[in-house]
Amino acid sequence: MKLIFDCHANKDMGTQNIASFLTKKNIHNRKGERFVCGTIRNMLKNPMYRGILRSGESTSKPFEHLRIIDDNAFFRSQDLTHQRSTQTAMNHATNKRYVANCLLTGIIYCENCGARLATSTAGQKRVRKDGTVYDRRYWRYICYNRMRHKEKCNGQSSYTASRIDASVVEFVRNILNQVKDLPMKHIIERHYESNIKEIETKLRIANTALVKSNNDLNSLQAELLKSIKGESVMSPNQLEMLFAKAIKKRDKVQESMKQLVEINTYLKNQKNEFMQYHNQLVAWAEVFDDCKLDVKKGIVLHIVSKVFVSSGYEIRIELSPFV
Ligand SMILES: [Zn+2]
Repeated sequence: MKLIFDCHANKDMGTQNIASFLTKKNIHNRKGERFVCGTIRNMLKNPMYRGILRSGESTSKPFEHLRIIDDNAFFRSQDLTHQRSTQTAMNHATNKRYVANCLLTGIIYCENCGARLATSTAGQKRVRKDGTVYDRRYWRYICYNRMRHKEKCNGQSSYTASRIDASVVEFVRNILNQVKDLPMKHIIERHYESNIKEIETKLRIANTALVKSNNDLNSLQAELLKSIKGESVMSPNQLEMLFAKAIKKRDKVQESMKQLVEINTYLKNQKNEFMQYHNQLVAWAEVFDDCKLDVKKGIVLHIVSKVFVSSGYEIRIELSPFV
């Protein structure tokens, strides 16, 4: 199971790849049959592997002793599945051939009218009399509004894809290089570790207060017993009132501790996510220039959410929310 999550979340393998990888490794399911995509897909979204039990509609909190997959890997895997299914839908909506040739299919828009730009070829390919091939075809992004309904758009009708793609690649390369050079130690210290330390100090103080509250409760209880036997200077009524007050106080301390623990977990998770994401970006920065177009496109899609173009190849880039 860990292997499957690792392949999916860290090695960027799809369910199909994982299935054939497992078969190659001679790893089979409980019945001794080979794994199929559907099973792997179901396994990847089954919260049981986080130690969560389901009964009908309700689910439990994670039981750590049942846990096989840590939350980071699990949720990263869920995100990837989501991204891939959006990507797949997009690929089906457009032509695969276009996707293979143009970097920005699906995320490039006309700045003038807001329409998503389509991809097409222009130029000619023909065979000369001497048998050599004359190929001057090139890819373009086109605004159908401008092409077909001139009243809807006053922008440019087509853009050479390679020219825009090159600018966006340059832009992404710059971002990746900047990320690579970030003073990570300093950022993590400033944004996370100092806050985590502060919360942990508050937690220690709250814990001391909780111990004290519990001690107070115990002595009040002992005093109450004495009072019932007539051995205390205080009446049972007085003591009951004090007891109720002390319980309220303890509940308050417990409540604030609960909140502090939640904040602490949240900050630590954020820190881990941030570090993982940073590592991912650094890994991409290293391969970006030499990787194949589809990988490059995947990286660009993680970093850029939309590209807008207008007359004269003016380009405006919207980043993904988490960059
Ligand atoms: Zn337009």
